[in-house]
Formats: sequence, C-alpha cells, structure tokens
Amino acid sequence: MGPQGSGKTTQGERIAEFLEVKIIPAGNVLRQEIKEESDFGKKVKEIVNSGSLIPDQLMIDLMFSKLEQVEYQDGFILDGFPRSVFQAKALDQKFKIDKVFNIEISDQEAIKRLSQRRVCPNGHVFHLVFNLPRVEGICDLCGEKLSQRKDDSEEIVKKRLKIYRQETSKLLNYYQVQKKIVVFDGEKNIPLVTDEILNYLKNEIR
Ligand code: AMP
Repeated sequence: MGPQGSGKTTQGERIAEFLEVKIIPAGNVLRQEIKEESDFGKKVKEIVNSGSLIPDQLMIDLMFSKLEQVEYQDGFILDGFPRSVFQAKALDQKFKIDKVFNIEISDQEAIKRLSQRRVCPNGHVFHLVFNLPRVEGICDLCGEKLSQRKDDSEEIVKKRLKIYRQETSKLLNYYQVQKKIVVFDGEKNIPLVTDEILNYLKNEIR
C-alpha cells in the first residue's frame, strides 16, 4: 500500500525478484485490458482515465481470475489491490495475506514525482530524475516508447490522492487490527527503500 507515486510497483518488482514470486499490479492489469480493447477494458477505460475507482465486485472478479493462473500458485505480490475494505475482505476469504507493506509519502511529494513519471505500454516504470532510462524515451526492459500516463496529470493525481486518503487508507486500520502492517518511509531514495524492505524480509525469513 501507499499513495500514488510512493513506489509500490517499483519496490514490488524488487521484492518479487527477491522472493522469486510474481507481482500483479492491479493498475497494469487494467491498462492491459484497456490496451487490448477487451469488453472489460472498454467498460473501465473512462473510469481509469478519470482517476476514479473501478466498482469493487468488478475488480475482485478480475483479480481473482488472474490469480488462478499457474504463475501465481507459489505466492504473489499484490500492488494496488485491495483498495477498499470490501476488496480486502473478499481477498481474505480466498487467500492468506502474510504482510502488508505501507510505503508512505506526502501528497506534495506524490504530485512532484508523478509529473515526472514515465511508463512503457508493458507497465515498466521510470522517472525523469530518480530512475532514468538508459536511452531517453525508451524502456530499458522491452525497448518500447515511454510516455506519461493519462491519469498522471496534476488535476487527476490530486483526485486520486484524495480517494486514497479518504477511502483506501481505511484499509490501513483493517490490516493494523490484523497486525500485518509494516511501514516504510517512501520519501527516501529508491535503492534505500529497497534495502530497508529486503533487510526486513531477510530478518523475517531467518
Ligand atoms: P494504479 O496504476 O494502481 O495507480 O491504478 C490506476 C487506476 O486503476 C486507479 O486510479 C483506478 O481507476 C484503477 N484501479 C486500480 N486498482 C484498483 C482497485 N483495486 N480497485 C478499483 N480501481 C482500481
């Protein structure tokens, strides 16, 4: 968990690599559906671009159908799902969630970061200051062109942050009660946050 721009996908990819499991970023799953112009994609395109949340049950059905795939059978890192207490309760009925990492940053930092975030069509994330691609405008991993997400404009980011603070943050309490939350300071630089998360995991595994 964490506000937009806190580094959930970036850190999640590194954790997934360390734990040798797959990450499933909910936003990427949605954007893939939109790109493929599937029936689902057509239904949610406007909602995603406007920065609102997809109705809970629609999101739950989509994520559960993905999580049934063989690549997730040995465990997985979730990113961006659940985003409401309703989604979290549904998840708890089907899977055992071990830990919830909350990467915290201020709204001011989030707005600053997202204006300089660039992504490729396959969901790989870069930043014009903190995480530059090797070749300007091109994804290091798949060679595709980088662009700014439609919902990363300042106006939409402010709306998404408001939803995060008002709705999604209720989840923090939900997982706090379950004693699963571990908080990391996402304002530190990317490698430092990764180190802190991996050190935590190494201690847990030991
Ligand atoms: P993200 O890439 O995680 O910032 O997600 C981008 C957009 O996808 C969000 O602003 C929502 O419109 C939608 N979305 C992603 N995850 C969820 C979710 N768990 N529940 C509802 N909508 C979601």
